[in-house]
Formats: sequence, C-alpha cells, structure tokens
Amino acid sequence: MKVAKFGGSSVANAEQLKKVANIIQADDDRRIIVVSAPGKRNSDDMKVTDLLIELGEAYRLGQSHEAPLQNVLDRFDAILEELQLSKVVLADIQSQVEKIFNDGNDLASKLDAIKAIGEDSLAKILSEYLQSLGIHARYVNPKEAGLILSDQPGSAQILDESFELIHRLRDSEDIAVIPGFFGYTKEGKLVTFSRGGSDITGSIVAAGVKADLYENFTDVDSVYCVNPQIVNNPKEITSLTYKEMRELSYAGFSVFHAEALIPAFKEKIPVCIKNTNNPTAKGTMIVSEKKDVNQAVVGIASDAGFVSLYVSKYLMNREIGFGRRLLNILEDEGISFEHTPSGIDDLSVIIRANQLTEEKEAIVINRINKELKPDTVYIDRGLALIMIVGEGMHSFVGTAAKATKAFEEAHVNLEMINQGSSEVSMMFGIKEEGVNRAVQSLYKVFFENN
Ligand code: ASP
Repeated sequence: MKVAKFGGSSVANAEQLKKVANIIQADDDRRIIVVSAPGKRNSDDMKVTDLLIELGEAYRLGQSHEAPLQNVLDRFDAILEELQLSKVVLADIQSQVEKIFNDGNDLASKLDAIKAIGEDSLAKILSEYLQSLGIHARYVNPKEAGLILSDQPGSAQILDESFELIHRLRDSEDIAVIPGFFGYTKEGKLVTFSRGGSDITGSIVAAGVKADLYENFTDVDSVYCVNPQIVNNPKEITSLTYKEMRELSYAGFSVFHAEALIPAFKEKIPVCIKNTNNPTAKGTMIVSEKKDVNQAVVGIASDAGFVSLYVSKYLMNREIGFGRRLLNILEDEGISFEHTPSGIDDLSVIIRANQLTEEKEAIVINRINKELKPDTVYIDRGLALIMIVGEGMHSFVGTAAKATKAFEEAHVNLEMINQGSSEVSMMFGIKEEGVNRAVQSLYKVFFENN
C-alpha cells in the first residue's frame, strides 16, 4: 500500500489534476491520497492558502470580505468548469466562511478554519473527479481519518493516539482522498499544522497505515544536492537517509517540510520525492539506511536570517551555571535558540532573526548585563548558515579541510564552525552577503572536482 501526497503545484489547476488522476490510476497500490490546496499556476500567481489568509485578514481588520472570497471562489470555479463537475463545492465554501465568521471561536481558531478551506475543497473536488472517471474514491475528512492534534492553531502537532485510529484506513475499499494541512483537537476544533503542512499529514497517514511507501509528488524530478537557484544544473540526489534530509531541510531545502520526516522515520516508511509532471522519473528515495556510502557529502544547504548573541566573561568556564542562566533568560522571554558554539570565556547563541525583534533584543541585553555581569555582550545580525551534509562524513578524512578551502577560495570569512559528534553535518556561520559565492565554491569542491 502506498500513500501519495500531491503538493500545491500538482493541484494548481484542472490540467494538473488530470495528471494526478493518471498517476493514481497507474498504480493500484496508491490507496490513500493526501492533497494540498491549489498552489501557484505561474510565478506571478498566488497560492489559494495565501488568498484564504487574505480573506481571514480582511475579517480580522473588519473590512469587507467579498473581494478576497471571490478570488478564492474563482480559483475553484475555473477548476470545476474545466473538469465539468458540479459547482456544489462553491456554495459549500461560501456557507463555511459565513459559519466560521459567525461562530463563537477565538480569532486564531477562526483563521485556521479559513486556511483549511483550500485543502478541504480540493480533496472534495479530486474525489468527485476520480468518481467521474469511474474510480472508486471518496473524500475522507481528517476527523474521520483520525488526525487528532494539539490545540496550537497554526502550528499544531499530532497526538500519539491518532496513529491507531488512522490504521483503520487500511480497511477502506475505496481510494481515500484526505485533505492535508489540518486536523482536529480532542474537543473537535479545527487546527492547522505550520505552513507547508500537507507533507506532515501525508507522513502521519503513511505511518498510521504502515504504508510500504510514502510518495511525495511535487514539481521537480528529484532533490538536488544544492539549491538550483544558486548553482546551475546541480547534480540530482538519488538516495538520502532521513537524517541527511532532516539536516538539509533544516537549512533551506524547501522540497519537503522539515517536520514531515519524523512520523515516517519512526515507522521506517521509505519516502520517495517524485515529479507530477514527469512521474516516470525515478525521484529521490529517503530511507533509514544506505548500504554503499561512497561520498562524504550528499548535499549543501544554506539559510539566511540568523542572529548571533555573543557573550564573553573572563573565567566563564569556571562559573558554574553561567550557560544555564543565559539560556534561562531566553526561555523566560519565549525565544528558542538554534545552536550554542562556545569558547573558554565566551558563548554565542545562534537564534533565528524572527525570534529576536529589536524590542526583545533590548530586554535580553539588559537582563544579561544585570543578571550575568558579562565583560561583553552584543548581537550580530545578518548571519547565514551553510551546512554540508552526509552520513559518509565520519568515514572520510579531510572533509573540513576541503570545505574551509572552498570558503577561502570564495573569499568568505568564517564566523563560526560547528560539528556535532554524530558527524552528519558540518555547519558554518558567515555574513549573508557571501552565501551564494560560498555555496558555489563548496559545490565545485565536493561535486565537480570529484
Ligand atoms: N496549503 C498549505 C500552505 O500553503 C499547506 C501545504 O500546501 O502543504 O502552506
């Protein structure tokens, strides 16, 4: 049994949905289908989820919501028209929106319920379309499927008890078409995962039914070893481990949601990234273990938008509890941190810039000065992280040397180096302006010169 998830570009319009139907028909094992909301049809277009967010925003600001609602309806209308399906879904969307705006729920829950309309409507449309082709398919709401989530609107997490419930989907005689991106709390309130969360639904469902394979259909033939916007025509990755994929998607590989691997990983369900526009291409397999490890580095990732909080104090190494008290201040202020490279008398805390607003920055610096009495404390903004990733790293000598040489050749100064003892990745902190140069140079060293 396979679970196939189709992303936004795969369901962006009627033409794409026809390809999806062909893919489903081509393999009888594709028994459970998870869908995103329609994404962009071209680079100037808007995703339906973003149109729905605009609709929610209009409501929040007390503005008329007619125009933003019409934009959403128009997208679905065009699809229904071309697939020659009934327009019941449109009336359904309108009444759902009215109901959400007038229910007694808090604002965050209302906005989540609005956002979920994209996936929900598309799943209804796809199942109807499949039926019109004579395929036994049916829409399955996430509540019926058993997706019970924590009460965290916009960033909900799956609760463990869901998996047993989801397992019952194996018995479905029809192909189940499930909308991605949302589920329900124990109290029955709709909540969504974070953006791009249909990948998470797909992975959860694949784990729940113990699928043989989780296929994630997108718009690229495979995962590339580096961002194709930075390096022209980079090499394709045919196989990756979960750990490698996790590290790569943490630092900017947007092909698969970073949180989506966990459920598949726990159940050891292999994941295959495939292209809806070229479904016979092999794609990239993500597996728990690779037999032949013949290269140290499988991919290079980069992500900007980090800040470094630098604290130094003479004899810090002898001051028991210094690090804990520093991190406690961040915890009190609700800031999560990413890494803490340290020296003898100093410590840097790497934080995503969106966690540390200028207002928060002033509070944090003030508290550190008062409570920890450091010699120096400052914030450095505009930091980017570059990661080279590969489980093979531990059996190859000289990987760091090659990497630092690449930075030298690109004339990029290294502000920070970090390698965990698992040796799956090596991370380098640099100023944002050097990212492209550095990545291109690393690509040359690890993929072209080899
Ligand atoms: N439609 C949602 C988003 O755009 C979820 C997804 O597509 O995976 O974030």
